Amino acid sequence: MAEVLVLVDHVDGQVKKVTTELLTAARRIGEPAAVWVGEGAESGKATLAEFGAEKVYVAPAEVNDYVVAPKAELLTKLAQDKGAAAILVSATAENKEIAGRTAVKLGSGVLTDVVDVTAELVTEHSIFGGATVTHARVRTGVPIVAVRPNSVVPEAAAGAAAEEAVSVDISDAAKGAKVVERVVQEKGARPELTEAAIVVSGGRGVGSDDFTVVENLADSLGAAVGASRAVVDSGWYPNQFQVGQTGKTVSPNLYVALGISGAIQHRAGMQTSKNILAVNKDPEAPIFELADFGVVGDLHTVAPQLTEEINKRK
Ligand SMILES: Cc1cc2nc3c(=O)[nH]c(=O)nc-3n(C[C@H](O)[C@H](O)[C@H](O)COP(=O)(O)OP(=O)(O)OC[C@H]3O[C@@H](n4cnc5c(N)ncnc54)[C@H](O)[C@@H]3O)c2cc1C
Repeated sequence: MAEVLVLVDHVDGQVKKVTTELLTAARRIGEPAAVWVGEGAESGKATLAEFGAEKVYVAPAEVNDYVVAPKAELLTKLAQDKGAAAILVSATAENKEIAGRTAVKLGSGVLTDVVDVTAELVTEHSIFGGATVTHARVRTGVPIVAVRPNSVVPEAAAGAAAEEAVSVDISDAAKGAKVVERVVQEKGARPELTEAAIVVSGGRGVGSDDFTVVENLADSLGAAVGASRAVVDSGWYPNQFQVGQTGKTVSPNLYVALGISGAIQHRAGMQTSKNILAVNKDPEAPIFELADFGVVGDLHTVAPQLTEEINKRK
């Protein structure tokens, strides 16, 4: 069975959930082979084995010293040497760039923002606010598929996770931009926005930089907090929490939109959420076209009641 390369997302050796989703999808296509860049392979191996990785290719440390280009060279070499059936990456901004560069080098096609992929490598995409589903297939070369986090349900299946150190000659051109410092982002108790199963987002309707009403509901649900661009541009909430076309893309099981109108640029970042609950005082707000559940009302009345009820039932 041909190998399917899966680029691992991890934080200091802790494998992110999205990688377990990619390994699950990879098993439909062929034999999953994880590609590890950076330190910590030893601590991450158990998770990779649990989700079916037969191999773990560990990149030389130098690959991580530069921005994306060497990773594309590494994936290109592995795909060629191993005769890979496909390459799967998570659909983050960085990985989509790696995917594009790798596709150019391999002369193959790349499909991004995929929400599902079959054994035949037919990909599914959810577009126009989730109103339309399209299917696509790469027709030339090794398909490179960037899958959105939370799109595939991870299923455990034991794999050998046999470690293999790989070498790659990084070109001078790929060494153009060196990473000089890495700063660990301060992390609160809430889950990471792009990985969270539930996201509670606040929009301009929150009315001020006091986001307590949004945070309280998020905490009652064990959710991540998101924000619209209007909120971020007003300086009410930090920009790493922005959801949308120019922010993060999320695809949780439940997305709660509090006081968000539902502009197309906001939808672009959350339209593949499995369930959408909108609270808005304007019954004509476009977000209701997309919502599975809608409450017409003042979020400052509705959200605290919801929070209280959830906390009561815990
Ligand atoms: C190139 C470009 C990129 C963009 N990228 C993004 C992006 O990544 N993410 C993004 O979000 N936007 C983005 N935008 C901006 C986008 O077009 C909208 O302006 C923005 O999403 C609006 O944010 P909002 O829904 O919070 O605010 P508004 O559109 O002002 O909506 C506020 C809503 O809150 C409701 N409301 C008010 N008070 C209450 C209350 N007390 N209770 C309940 N409801 C209430 C109102 O009825 C209204 O529907 C982008 C725009 C451009 C041009």
